[in-house]
Amino acid sequence: MKLNLVVDMFGCPNRCMHCWLGHMPNRKMEEGADRFIMDYFDPFFDQIAFYSWLREPDYCEDYAERWAKDLAISKNTLPERFELASFYRIVRDEKYIPFLQSLAVKKVQLTFFGLQETQDRYVGRKGAFEEVMKATEMLNSHGIIPRWQCFINEENRDEILQLYELAQGLRKNNYPALEFFVHEGSCEGENQKLYPIRIQKSHIPPALAEVYLDYSKLMTEKDCCEILKDNTASPDFPLGDEFTLNISNTYDVYYNWTHMREPWVIGNLKKDEAEALVQRMVSGDTHALRRIRECSWADLVRRFGDPRSEKVFSLDDFKMYLINLYLESPAGTSKLL
Ligand code: SF4
Repeated sequence: MKLNLVVDMFGCPNRCMHCWLGHMPNRKMEEGADRFIMDYFDPFFDQIAFYSWLREPDYCEDYAERWAKDLAISKNTLPERFELASFYRIVRDEKYIPFLQSLAVKKVQLTFFGLQETQDRYVGRKGAFEEVMKATEMLNSHGIIPRWQCFINEENRDEILQLYELAQGLRKNNYPALEFFVHEGSCEGENQKLYPIRIQKSHIPPALAEVYLDYSKLMTEKDCCEILKDNTASPDFPLGDEFTLNISNTYDVYYNWTHMREPWVIGNLKKDEAEALVQRMVSGDTHALRRIRECSWADLVRRFGDPRSEKVFSLDDFKMYLINLYLESPAGTSKLL
């Protein structure tokens, strides 16, 4: 079996209002935490990829050595880079882009929520808008393609349109490879709090349709309720033979399917015996999974869905939204581990 361990060893400089993981305090984990975590799982898995970052990649000062350690400590497999990097570090550390180039990074995603004031407010830091703009310029001048990811809602839809116009202008001039896409994001973690301003399908500016992720498949909450309202099956998460675990800086363990909140805790690496925790994880015998098997989709829609809502959802995001509302309701929170 293969295991990916994604560990919040250093934290994140941002507090994004859409953060699907949920906000957690920053805390640098102690020396040796990586070895302890690897040793904990080692007897049970043939392959283990270790990631020392769960939130901001390369946030620690010695990111190059840390990446080398992640590679060295992994077992019979290696962690991947994806298309992620730290814009916080891009604009502060002149050695960082050369480091990304040394790893053959070709593209880096940068996240936008709107123009200056909105971006700063959504990221939780003054100067965040200037930083992503400067990061765009720096990546481009070093031959790395910037990809702008925009989260849209009722509050920022006009600004996302202005960002698209800005991106089109930049493409014509200096940044021909600049990529751009828009989506609504899931409805979990911090983004769950933005449900009241989740965008309605008919309010998406028509000019954004061509850059909207899976626009032709977009559904409304009403559509999702209609699909699920007579479905008497229970929610199910098929557990294969590859697992990815998110591990908090206090050693709590979660599947990586949704936010890191209490109902989803599988166990704690400092408190729980390894064999029992792994058994619970691979068999799905966790609090959250036990509780949701007691419901049906029809139940969940009746209790938590709004059949009149025109808010945009993919069916999978809507299902997770229902499950999380249930797990945080009085019925769902009873009998916590
Ligand atoms: S979305 Fe990413 S960058 Fe923003 S707060 Fe969450 S982990 Fe940090």
